[in-house]
Amino acid sequence: MTAEDRTNLLNLPPADALAALREFAVSVGELPYRGSQVARHIWKSPARDFSAMSDLPAEFRTRLAERFSLPRLTLTNEQESSDGTRKFLFELADGQSIEAVAIPEGKRVTLCVSSQAGCALQCAFCATGAMGFVRNLETFEIACQARELAFVDPPIKPTNIVFMGMGEPLMNWPAVDRTLTILNDPEGMGIGARHITLSTVGWLPGIEALASRPEQFRLAISIHAPSDALRATLMPVNTKFPLDAVIARAAQFDRRVTFEYVMLGGVNDADEHATALAALARQCGAFVNLIPLHPGGAMGFAPTSPEQIVAFANIVRGLRVEVAIRRSRGLDIAAACGQLRAERLRRGAPKRADEHGEVHETG
Ligand code: SAH
Repeated sequence: MTAEDRTNLLNLPPADALAALREFAVSVGELPYRGSQVARHIWKSPARDFSAMSDLPAEFRTRLAERFSLPRLTLTNEQESSDGTRKFLFELADGQSIEAVAIPEGKRVTLCVSSQAGCALQCAFCATGAMGFVRNLETFEIACQARELAFVDPPIKPTNIVFMGMGEPLMNWPAVDRTLTILNDPEGMGIGARHITLSTVGWLPGIEALASRPEQFRLAISIHAPSDALRATLMPVNTKFPLDAVIARAAQFDRRVTFEYVMLGGVNDADEHATALAALARQCGAFVNLIPLHPGGAMGFAPTSPEQIVAFANIVRGLRVEVAIRRSRGLDIAAACGQLRAERLRRGAPKRADEHGEVHETG
């Protein structure tokens, strides 16, 4: 059997991997529970490879390695910010590199994962868009951004996942769909659905697909401009999926959505933009996250002053829309894939804060 014929256990939903492993155990003369032992080493208690599964007979480990694979991502660079944010650069088998960023916030660690190498969408202010689209990531290449952190020193166990790294997750739905299962399944990473957030430009077929899942995964939509005319200049995808269609779909979504709005000095940060943005948020009951522009995006944009961000937020809040200003994290390590921690503008409504709490603090 060649390496390519082996089944990659990290691409399978946990229940399928378990079934395959138990069946395999029996086929080589072991008891089924030996398969269950292997399954635990996939996500719950990750092993670097089969030989590291020291609770299993050596001969069985050898057989496993002939039939299955547990591919690793190669950690090629790691940087830690003065604020504790850690950025990991992983190399994939074909030489592509992807980033993941771990953001500690008290007891939680939010991991920002990439879903594509590059991105096709060319948002004007985004560093990933500037590099163009390379390819979709496979399930294991997304999920292993979380798994690999079990092998860093000291190990990191993410409590929250945000799909806010490189790529548009809803344009890679088959792989992302399966990744959600792995991250959420108690036999997988065991991360609650409410602690997993997909961020999208508003790719409608993908929102349909996400909505069809029964779990309470969170949806964040990158709005960034309150009119089609302005949004189309920042986000070319707006011609395919204009604002009214995106807002209408958000209103139908059975969970509360979050708007992401990156503050671009002199572009989308005037008082009238705040008023128009609040009106859109009210149409679909959205929570608004204002994101300071992270340096390191595409050239040609300046950040909005902190004072104007607060004034903007006050207008939005005055129109009875809940709003938070996210705080930039990892500035000194160019953790610039939209990785920002929130500072809540307003106390109170802790339940709502928790609903949207994956990327900002409660209360
Ligand atoms: N494609 C998805 C997810 C990846 S980007 C999406 O667009 O939502 C995650 C978030 O980071 C998006 O809201 C994106 O607009 C934002 N972002 C991109 N570049 C940024 C920058 N330079 N500063 C701040 N936020 C940025």
